[in-house]
Amino acid sequence: MSESNRPVTGAELAEGQRSRAAKKKIAEFPIEELLCRTRGHKWPDLDPRKPLPKSFSARLQGNGTFMMIETCERKCAKFRYRLSGAGGVFSNVGQWQYGLVKGQEKNWVVLDEAGPEVFKSDMHEALYDQLADAVRRMARHA
Ligand SMILES: [Zn+2]
Repeated sequence: MSESNRPVTGAELAEGQRSRAAKKKIAEFPIEELLCRTRGHKWPDLDPRKPLPKSFSARLQGNGTFMMIETCERKCAKFRYRLSGAGGVFSNVGQWQYGLVKGQEKNWVVLDEAGPEVFKSDMHEALYDQLADAVRRMARHA
């Protein structure tokens, strides 16, 4: 039996359905979210030689620690924050925690457990689909 005449297995059918549902979900992502989910967030570049960027802020807490807040410069709505060590000592900073910027929540489609399983490879495929024409234009034969 040739490959094309072979009956579709249940696993292939399920994978096809998952893939279609994932593509539909990814199509809901604003471009900023698709970029951040595939390329990583664009957190502020903290360079001691330069002024601190507007996407970074610090708030002094009552106990002398600092809450440091960074907002994604791609404006995908994500921010992250963590507390400095006691007395503003930065060598013992906590883990990053994440949130959505108030008023920008619509810029980030939250993936819930009940929704389709979306793999990073699905998201890369969606991004490259959108880049395909530009890649073809710039590509040269090796
Ligand atoms: Zn981002």
